[in-house]
Parts: sequence; C-alpha cells; structure tokens
Amino acid sequence: MSKSAKNKTSNPTCQDDYDPNSLDVVEAKRRIKQMLSVVSESETLAIKDALGRTVAKDVLSTINVPPYTNSAMDGYAIDGQDLGKIRTFLQVGVAYAGRPYNGTVKTGECIRIMTGAPICAGVDTVIMQEHITLAKTAEGESVTLREEQIANQKPGQNVRHQGEDLALGSPAILAGRRLTPSDIGLLASLGIAKIEVKRNVRVALLSTGDELKNIGETLEEGQIYDSNRHTIYCMLQRLGVDIIDLGIIKDKQSDIRAAFKQASKSADVIITSGGVSVGDADYVKQIMEEMGNINFWKIAMKPGRPLAVGQIGNAFFFGLPGNPVSAMVTFYQYIQPAVREIMGQTLIETPSVQMKCVSALKKRPGRVEFQRGTIFTNDKGEKVVKSTGNQGSHVLSSMSEANCFIILPMESGNVEKNTFVEVQPFEGLI
Ligand code: AMP
Ligand code: MG
Repeated sequence: MSKSAKNKTSNPTCQDDYDPNSLDVVEAKRRIKQMLSVVSESETLAIKDALGRTVAKDVLSTINVPPYTNSAMDGYAIDGQDLGKIRTFLQVGVAYAGRPYNGTVKTGECIRIMTGAPICAGVDTVIMQEHITLAKTAEGESVTLREEQIANQKPGQNVRHQGEDLALGSPAILAGRRLTPSDIGLLASLGIAKIEVKRNVRVALLSTGDELKNIGETLEEGQIYDSNRHTIYCMLQRLGVDIIDLGIIKDKQSDIRAAFKQASKSADVIITSGGVSVGDADYVKQIMEEMGNINFWKIAMKPGRPLAVGQIGNAFFFGLPGNPVSAMVTFYQYIQPAVREIMGQTLIETPSVQMKCVSALKKRPGRVEFQRGTIFTNDKGEKVVKSTGNQGSHVLSSMSEANCFIILPMESGNVEKNTFVEVQPFEGLI
C-alpha cells in the first residue's frame, strides 16, 4: 500500500491515467469491508413477504423432506431382490400420491405406483411403466419386464428416500442467506410459515452539482438532468433496502451540511454522486471531512476512479464519482457488496466467465477496466462478446446497451480481436 493511498486526501481526478500510487480494487474492497458492521436488529415475517430478505438465524429442518419414501416415477413397485430372478409380476394393488397401498407385497408381486406415492412394505424398487408389458391372466393383471430392458434395471431405482432432501434437524437455510424463490419453497416444504430476517437497511441517496436538474424542469445552458439518482435508486431497489431520496443538493456549503446531517440521522448508509474529484466545488469534500471520517481514494480502475469512503455519525458514507458509468461501475464493485455486508448477507461472488471477444479493445496497463460488452450468439452458434463501442465514462447508453462487463486485468494492454476475456453478465435468473 502506498503512502499517498493512505493519505486522507489524495486529490484524485478522472483525467489522470496511470498512477502508481492509486489503490488497487482488491485492497479498496478489503478496506471497505473492514470498516463495516452488520445491522443487529431483526424482525419476523411471513415467508411470502420474505423474498430477498436476509436470514437472521439458521433455520433447522422441522421434518424429514421427503417425509416418507416414495416413487420418483409412474410405474410398478417390486422387491429389488426379484430382479434377475423373476420377470413377470402379479399386480396386487395400486398406490397413488396421497392414497397409499397399505398391504405388504410378496416376492413375485408388484403394485402399480404413481409418482409421489408412498413405497409400501415389501418393495424398494420402481420399474418405469415404459419398460413393461401388461397382460390379463386368470389371477389378474400381470406385469412383464421387457426383454430389452432387463439389463437396465437396478435394485432401489426410482425411489426418493425419506429425508434425502433434508433430514430432520439438519440446517435447511443458514443465517446470512438472501432468500430466493427456492428458499421460500423450501421453507414451505418444511411447513414453516414465518422466518426471522434482518431489518431493512436504510440508505439515503443524493446527487450533488450546480448543473443538475430534476426531470420536469427546463434545462438552461450548461445544465443536465440528474440521471445518477435514478440509476442508483434502481440498483438499491434491487438490493432490497429502504431508500431515502434527498434529491439534488447544490454545491453550496449550508445545503450540503444540512443534507449530510439529515442523512446521517436517518440512514445506515449515505450514497452521494459527484463532487469527489478535484475539479469540483471544494465544499463537498470539505464538508465530508468536517462532518465525518472520510477517505478519498483514487482507485486503479476505469471507469470509476475517485471514491470517497468513510463515516458520518453512525452512517457509512460512500461518495461516488459523478460520471454516470463511473457511478454505476463503482456501485457494483463497492457499494453493492458493502450494503450486502451491512445487511448481514453472506457474500456470494458474482459469477464471471471466459469468452471470446470479437472486437479489438483499447486498454492501458496499470488499472483494471470494466468495459461494456454485449454477449451474443455468432453464426457458428458460439456465445461470444463484443464491445459496445465508445467507452467514455459519461456514455450511459453504453451501459444501457451492454449486457455484461468485460473485465480486463491490471497488467493487460490492448486486446486483439478473438482473444478470450473475462466477462461478467449483468442479468441472471431472478
Ligand atoms: P463530478 O464527479 O461532480 O466532477 O462530475 C463528473 C461528471 O459527471 C460531470 O460531467 C457532471 O456533470 C456529471 N454528473 C455529476 N452528477 C451527475 C448526475 N447526478 N447525473 C448525471 N451526470 C452527473
Ligand atoms: Mg460536480
């Protein structure tokens, strides 16, 4: 770690290129994690209201899942020991899901069994109905294993055992889990109606800049609409936090001071955008320093170099760069994991894959780059990635058009066409 990276103010700018004193991405993440603490309060919710919430305490299975051994197929249940000895079985009963066969099956006998029906006494193996032929005999229905299917049968096949999904008392869902639709289903399968989750994290959000206008206002010369507050709002919504939108704050000392004060009282996290690079009205930085314990880092990444990180009162503070793509990239790299940490979530690494890039990419060594890309299927049916073109940190349409980041490592220079690169898709199953 360099001396200047440790300094409270290192006066970062978006304009500089390679700087040996900048902080690397991994170290920045490590320092942020070190500073954070998890919300301690929790609440109990009905499972249907708990999607996306963070589990506060381990949930142990209250029952065996499945609760009884049952058939995985529609077919015929036999004693597995009969396989290889007997080919034709006498059907002595039928078992349906929810309507068991209560008798005991003897050697040479079988029952007709439906998927999910309990396995009865005397059987442990299910033969698929496609593997048999039926015939009527004087004693009743007879079931014969087809000649060509004999070799394909194994004792114990097509049976789902009691507790094989979850045994009674075993951990079903661990504390720190962000509840997914399958988790909610799992809780339902255990007959659990309510779950203790961490309380929602409150995040205050504001934009800084004299040039910013709200939608609906008329743009004068030199003014732009505030887009960051909308992108950040939406990214926060997806994280599942309570959002306190403090609007646009002018580059004016008293306004900034008042907004930070209000935010630090009501929120666990304060997120601002703009005003953390050297070209800005100095008030923002000055007041951040005056009111709290804030570090200004220049990070070896592009876009999204300047980042302010620290605390104002009890609230954690993150000052994102103003450029719209920088704000988003910085959010995904630092703020999303930080907020999840505060929520008490066990962090799961965002998946990335290696993929052939069909565009040549410009890149300077000495920083990690998060270029915008589009994954598509080429003429040969291969999944490949291409650049969205202009990689300027102000070009929000590049993020809108992209469906992935192309992550180029620190040491990489220009990338030739058809090189394999690391790709991080934006969307997965939700
Ligand atoms: P700053 O980090 O304040 O120097 O801003 C860098 C660039 O981002 C400038 O071109 C700003 O006009 C722009 N910018 C700052 N805040 C926003 C915002 N909330 N929405 C859109 N652009 C912004
Ligand atoms: Mg500004």
